[in-house]
Formats: sequence, structure tokens, C-alpha cells
Amino acid sequence: MIPVNEPLLDGKERVYLNECIESGWISSDGAFVERFERAMAGYVGRRHAIAVANGSAALDVAAVALRLGPDDEVIIPTHTIISCASAIVRTGARLRLVDSSPDTWNMDVTKIESAITSRTRAIMAVHTFGLPVDMAPLLDIARKYGLVVIEDAAQAIGQTYNEAKCGSFGDISCFSFYANKHITTGEGGMIVCDDDELATRARSLRNLCFKPERRFVHEELGWNYRMSNLQAAVGLAQFEKLDAHVARKRELGRRYESLLRGVPGIGMAPVALPYAENIYWVFGMVLDDSLPFDADELRSMLAEAGVSARPFFWPMHEQPVFLKQGMFKGENFPIAERMSRRGLYLPSGLALTEAQQDYTVDVVRDTLATAFSRSFRNSRSSSARC
Ligand SMILES: *Cc1c(COP(=O)(O)O)cnc(C)c1O
Repeated sequence: MIPVNEPLLDGKERVYLNECIESGWISSDGAFVERFERAMAGYVGRRHAIAVANGSAALDVAAVALRLGPDDEVIIPTHTIISCASAIVRTGARLRLVDSSPDTWNMDVTKIESAITSRTRAIMAVHTFGLPVDMAPLLDIARKYGLVVIEDAAQAIGQTYNEAKCGSFGDISCFSFYANKHITTGEGGMIVCDDDELATRARSLRNLCFKPERRFVHEELGWNYRMSNLQAAVGLAQFEKLDAHVARKRELGRRYESLLRGVPGIGMAPVALPYAENIYWVFGMVLDDSLPFDADELRSMLAEAGVSARPFFWPMHEQPVFLKQGMFKGENFPIAERMSRRGLYLPSGLALTEAQQDYTVDVVRDTLATAFSRSFRNSRSSSARC
């Protein structure tokens, strides 16, 4: 079976982990945490970086650090991971959803302004699949209405928008180092920002809101969302390979794109836009309406042939957990609905070999060709019957 993601750990991970083990510094108090934080802050050009347990934790901390609450509304894309929504919902703030752009698969920024109300406090920009959100118009809107920008750059580590790094745009920006991101710590995340007070709050929230003066007396509830020195050791080794990882992902993505270009029935994201080159967090495809099955059926067919694929996200306005709370009643976002049913991604890990990629492409071509001829036969026989 070709796995959907296999990470690449070919830097100094072992060396740095050995340092942790030999020195006994394995908790969050070890020196690698700060080294990794400084490396990431420098890379994206921010004053502060706060390492946390995972990317979802980063979003949780960001929402509370910004003091979002029940009087606020936050605009987010409907087509994203649940972590973006849950971080906001847990503060009591209300979600306002925006549909996707069929061309970039990111939030359609032309639809943001109509979602703004007198209660809107923030816009969350989530860069997905490898292309950044069109940030210039989004930032213009944020400035015009005085809104805070939360940036989720989990899938865009190393990506740029008009030459500026993803992760440099938000009042507060978040990363994930899950095993399928451009650099990984197994589980891990980071918050970056420039504002000193926001950074202090985020550090405190990450660490149970212990107080420096009286450690076990708390003014506010936080979490233990600390990153361990072991994770940060892997993170620093991965960070040293970030440029190589981004180059490798681009190479894999472009290779898929050229091998699959012209295959009938599939839509692919652009290799480049005026403001960015795709860094292919994963290689996604959206099936044409002409295909007689949806992405999940194609996923099972590929699995039978030994290829693991994954469907796209399921939109927030169709999540049972939110519908049960009476949220998003009667709301429709047709592009996101289509992407969630017709979209899937192919094996895209950094350790993917060209042979695995060639095999995957053959399986996709054959499966689609068979499906097309089957549906052609079916439509002929049904027309013969009537
Ligand atoms: C992976 C991811 C997250 C969550 O990160 P975890 O480390 O898995 O909690 C958040 N947002 C986006 C866009 C992601 O891709």
C-alpha cells in the first residue's frame, strides 16, 4: 500500500534527540524549544514565537489571547479543518462562514465583505493545499473595518505571498508540525506575532497561566499546551531542511500535475498564481461532474489497487456537531460543498518515491478510464432501452 503520507526525517533529528536523552532535558524546559522558536520567528520575520503541543492548540491559544468572546463574530472559510472553527466556538464567539474559490481552493476573498456585521472582530485566513489566500484584498478589508487577522499557515510553512512569508500576515499566526506538514515534530505547533502583550498572553495560556510571582495562583484558565524538548529537537532538525522540503514538495506536485494533465475528469490546482507558486502541501484533485462517482468512491477504488488517498475537508456548515447546536441553518456554500464531495488528494508525503508516484498515476488513469467506458456503456444501453 502506498501511504498517503510518509514523512522525511533525514537531517540531524537523531543527533539532537541524542543530546536531549544524554542531557536529560526532555520536557518543555530544554534548550531546543527556544532554539526552534527563534529559528521560526526569524524565518517568518516575527518578534515572537511560542511553541505549542499541536496546531489546533495554537489556534485555541490565539483565539483566547485575542480575548474573543460571545459579543464577537469571526469570519472563517467553511472549507477547512474543524480546529479553525472549534477554537472560535469555544470562546463563545459566533462563526460567519465564507465559501471557497473554485480556482484556488482557498477562501473566496471577494465574499468576505458581505459577511461583515457590526459584531465582526476578526477574519481567519487559512492557506490550504499549497496556495496562499489572496492576502492583499483580505488585509485591505481588515484595515477598512478595523478587524484582527488570524492566520492559519499550518499547510503553508515556507510558502510566500508576493514574496512575504506566510505566517507574517496575521496579527497572530499559527503553524502545525503534524507529520504531514512541510516540517514535522510528530505532533506540534507554533504561534507567531509581533505584539509583546499578545505574546505574553499566549505564553501564559500555553502554560496553564502559571504566574511568575505566585506559581499556583491563577487569574485565568489556560492549558498545558507546551512542546517538549524532544519534539523541538526534531523540529529544529526539520527546520534546517525546510527549504529542501519545500523544493521537494514542489517537485512532487509539479510532476503529478504534468503526468495527470489532460487526463479527462479531473481538475487540479494551478501550479502558480501571480502572487505565489504552489508548494503542494498535498496533491489534490477535484472530480468533474461528468464522472459517475464521487471522491470517496474513487478513494475506495484506489485503495483496492494499493494507493491511499484522502478526501478533502467536510465543510463547517455541514458538520453535525454544529447543526445540532442550531448553527448555520439554511446556509449553503456550493463551491465548498462540491469540493468536499468531489475532492481528494493523492499520496503526497516527502518520502514518496518517483516509482510510487508513477504507480499512483497509472492507477488513477486506469481507474478513471475504466469508469468512463463503463458509464459510456451504461448510457448507451439505457438509451437503447428507451
Ligand atoms: C494540520 C492543520 C491544523 C491542525 O494542526 P494539528 O497539529 O493537527 O492540530 C490546523 N489548520 C490547518 C489548516 C491544518 O492543515
